[in-house]
Amino acid sequence: MSKREIEETSTDEHLSKKLKEKTLSAAQEKMEKIKKELDVKPWTPDVTIQDLITSLLDKNDRDAFFVADIGVIIKQWQKWVKHLPNVTPFYAVKCNPTMGILKVLEALGTSFDCASRTEIESVLSMGVDPSRIIYANPCKQITAIKYARTNNVKLMTFDNLSELEKIEKFFPEAELVLRIAPDDSKSLMRFGTKFGVHIDDCSDLLEMAKEMNLKVVGVSFHVGSGCFDASAYDTALEMVRKVFDMAKTHGMELNLVDIGGGFTGSNDEMFGKFTEVIRKKTAELFDSSVRIIAEPGRYFAAMSHTLAVTVISKRSIKQEDNRQHPRRTSNNMRQYNYYLADGVYGSFNNIQFDHAKPTALLLKPTNKAPTPCTLFGPTCDSIDVIAKDTQLPELKIGDWLYFPDMGAYTTASASSFNGFCPPPVYYYCNSELEDY
Ligand SMILES: *Cc1c(COP(=O)(O)O)cnc(C)c1O
Repeated sequence: MSKREIEETSTDEHLSKKLKEKTLSAAQEKMEKIKKELDVKPWTPDVTIQDLITSLLDKNDRDAFFVADIGVIIKQWQKWVKHLPNVTPFYAVKCNPTMGILKVLEALGTSFDCASRTEIESVLSMGVDPSRIIYANPCKQITAIKYARTNNVKLMTFDNLSELEKIEKFFPEAELVLRIAPDDSKSLMRFGTKFGVHIDDCSDLLEMAKEMNLKVVGVSFHVGSGCFDASAYDTALEMVRKVFDMAKTHGMELNLVDIGGGFTGSNDEMFGKFTEVIRKKTAELFDSSVRIIAEPGRYFAAMSHTLAVTVISKRSIKQEDNRQHPRRTSNNMRQYNYYLADGVYGSFNNIQFDHAKPTALLLKPTNKAPTPCTLFGPTCDSIDVIAKDTQLPELKIGDWLYFPDMGAYTTASASSFNGFCPPPVYYYCNSELEDY
């Protein structure tokens, strides 16, 4: 390196450091404002989650509530920037659309993946520039397409001809991202049959788009949520490369790759493996003019929420085997049905819709031996079961359980069936934004 090059490099570094500092202080300033708005309380490391929940029991007469730690979202953001510095996260709003979460992510600088008019409205209401939104639903209502046009939300996905026809008519200046169907056999929640065009049909769709004078800018995929094999990204990215080449033969220059969502928030080792594959593969297949984006949802939201729930009712039943020998039934042969203040029609809908297996923890530790039990929700529907045939030390009415990792696909899809409304959220922050 010549002296001049060294000088230039260090000036660049100096500049980027300055820029970083500026961005950091702007984000910190925003974060302070949000904390006031949401009434975020500080949470020091010496206070355990049990102590925190206990302190809230006296202050409110709720039967169930969430403790949300925005510090978790900050930490997840910092982990993302470290592992995927060249991938812009577009937070999948559907995962948890609470304004508090959206505002924190906005302050951190993420962009947003919206799937409906209402989600776009929520994001725009924060003053977010429309270029920070991808309308990532391949099957959109005409009214919503018109709304996107009025509000200049240009980036949107498609995967079929009728979508192109709608866009040609109602938003011809849109910037389109072709969603392909990757191999999702390695995911818990498979998408292949609902969305995504098969690789063999891409060429036709690209040609149609060209005939309609529409602007295709990139390719997206979503390996499905709960993906457990990093090679799924290898395969999918290679497919994207093929579509890029295909587009070129039609005279289209693509410049955006959207690698979707599905990243786990809680397993650092897995996240490390996945992101390594993504870093290597994107560098190998695409030059630096290609923008890489992602649509993480659960990665940011899941660990941020803990749900505290009280036992509202209880019944003791004999174990099935002992029904014929009632006299032999002693205390330790019993099993219990517990009825909790929240259930599958509320926050625990993630059991039905997201294959979740929430972990029940006791607020007050005990050395009593666990006994077999089933946890039910509060509604009158027999389907309202939170955990069947599990084991917990005997509980009494008014005891509290708490469930960690309840921030994703919980409040978002909770109903107020039977009059049981979703629990309130109390905000805390146990980690500050210190780096960017
Ligand atoms: C649901 C969804 C996501 C987010 O999935 P997570 O598992 O929460 O990361 C991202 N992209 C698309 C297209 C989705 O449908």
